[in-house]
Amino acid sequence: MSTIADNIAQVSSRIRAAEQAAQRSAHSVQLLAVSKTKPVQALREAYAAGLRDFGENYLQEALSKQAELTDLPLTWHFIGPIQSNKTRAIAEHFDWVHSVDRLKIAQRLSEQRPAGLPPLNICIQVNVSGEASKSGCTPADLPALANAIGALPRLKLRGLMAIPEPTEERAVQDAAFAAVQRLQASLELPLDTLSMGMSHDLESAIAQGATWVRIGTALFGARDYSAG
Ligand SMILES: *Cc1c(COP(=O)(O)O)cnc(C)c1O
Repeated sequence: MSTIADNIAQVSSRIRAAEQAAQRSAHSVQLLAVSKTKPVQALREAYAAGLRDFGENYLQEALSKQAELTDLPLTWHFIGPIQSNKTRAIAEHFDWVHSVDRLKIAQRLSEQRPAGLPPLNICIQVNVSGEASKSGCTPADLPALANAIGALPRLKLRGLMAIPEPTEERAVQDAAFAAVQRLQASLELPLDTLSMGMSHDLESAIAQGATWVRIGTALFGARDYSAG
């Protein structure tokens, strides 16, 4: 059985190989460890192997892990769907939010971001697969949303996030990620982040400009939701 440290080494070499294949500089892509459903011991192992950035989808689960890991200097990323009644805790307990897809949520995060903390880093989740996904703003709504979020005082708009429809076909992956990159370029805002690519499609995402890849299964193994 492979350990988390082995998996991290493997994923890191996939990332480095994809950077090279795309003629991008080494370490231009960062690894976000998606630890949803995994026990704190798994995060400690990943930390020991060098990872510092962790992504969580479920607020209560994330808060209880954070409470158990206060001894580690971790950077926390919220990457799941956001309900209005969860914005205060997210604004207080995370460094990044990758899954903002409407203005109301962004306004609440800005209002509720504590004054003693730096601005909250934000990615707008965009839906490039049409009907296939309910999360994410439409490409048509993106320019107005990006301009409005860019003006909020306690947020720092960093870029876009996308979860294209899963497929093993490289050409289809490439087309979806290229669309995200084009949308970002069309905004003409000073953005430096593309959060895209998961365990099965990180090579394609990196070829199309990803700066964060969000990796769960390839680091921690399959998720067993039935075990809670
Ligand atoms: C679960 C999840 C991931 C990780 O997916 P894997 O296929 O396990 O690598 C990435 N991003 C988001 C938003 C997720 O919910």
